[in-house]
Amino acid sequence: MQNKLITRQLITNIMSQFNLLAIQFGFVKIGAAPQPPAAATADWHFKYNPHYHLKGAQSAIVFLYPYQLVSVDAAAGRAKLASIGYHADYHVALTHYLEAVAAGLKNNLGDFDYKIFVDKDGLDDVKMALQAGLGKIAKNSMLINAQYGTAHNIGYILTTLPVAVQAQQPVADLCINCNRCEVACPNNALANRSVKRVRCRSSLNQKKGALSEREIGLIGNWFYGCDICQYACPHNITQAVSGGAIDLAEIMQLTKKTFRERHKAQSYGYLGLTRLKRNAMVLLAKQLGLTALQPYQAIIARSPLLSEQYQILVNREKSGG
Ligand code: SF4
Ligand code: SF4
Repeated sequence: MQNKLITRQLITNIMSQFNLLAIQFGFVKIGAAPQPPAAATADWHFKYNPHYHLKGAQSAIVFLYPYQLVSVDAAAGRAKLASIGYHADYHVALTHYLEAVAAGLKNNLGDFDYKIFVDKDGLDDVKMALQAGLGKIAKNSMLINAQYGTAHNIGYILTTLPVAVQAQQPVADLCINCNRCEVACPNNALANRSVKRVRCRSSLNQKKGALSEREIGLIGNWFYGCDICQYACPHNITQAVSGGAIDLAEIMQLTKKTFRERHKAQSYGYLGLTRLKRNAMVLLAKQLGLTALQPYQAIIARSPLLSEQYQILVNREKSGG
């Protein structure tokens, strides 16, 4: 088995061959199956048991995939997007990169089983990145890395091959003497290195179902995600981009076809057309009042979610919200 080990040098060579150097990686050695709690559900196994996802899993190679932070102004009729919304869907891009790494490993080591995970449908990826020595949990609740700050996505290859695990250098705590992100959060959602999701704009504008009156008040003018706590971080590099805010009227007028053509491939495309319209109508009503939704009454009436959301907006306006 010695000649079948995944080594750091081998991964570096493969990434160089595929021009994938703007990525950091580390290894996690998968031991025996973790001890499940007495009432372990399928959900527990899905999140914490690597062998549930891949029989014979022995290791994971965990990757950080950085992205450029974008700050943007939004005039009336427009709304803000988190930075990853300006980039092509990272689920697709990073999966493509990791497939290239897996193919390179097969070329070098022969056949083995593997499974790729990017952000969804898998184990706790932040925990794996911590175990792989790629950073620490920051005060903004994200993984903070010395090179990329908090502006990165996490993906990993779960494999049946073992890794040559090297002793790790201790990871520095980059948050000591700084709490700029906590101060910057407009909703006081950050404390004790975790985020209160019920107060976080990013969680609220990506949740399923209708937004309550309280939630409408909390989302500010963010159409997708929120990067305020990332902008505040001195370890992140922010780039100013003008004129890139999302056009809310354009979202309300999208058909399935134009959604597919113009928006589906973006990182926020996974929310689907109806949830994007929900966000657009909420923000239009907040900015310009319910009259701004008059042109879209037929579209709203056709969707149970949009109709429910509209009624909440009516109630909110009646109560002076
Ligand atoms: S994403 Fe926005 S709302 Fe959520 S914790 Fe950060 S600053 Fe606060
Ligand atoms: S702003 Fe300061 S406290 Fe917050 S994540 Fe960055 S370094 Fe840590």
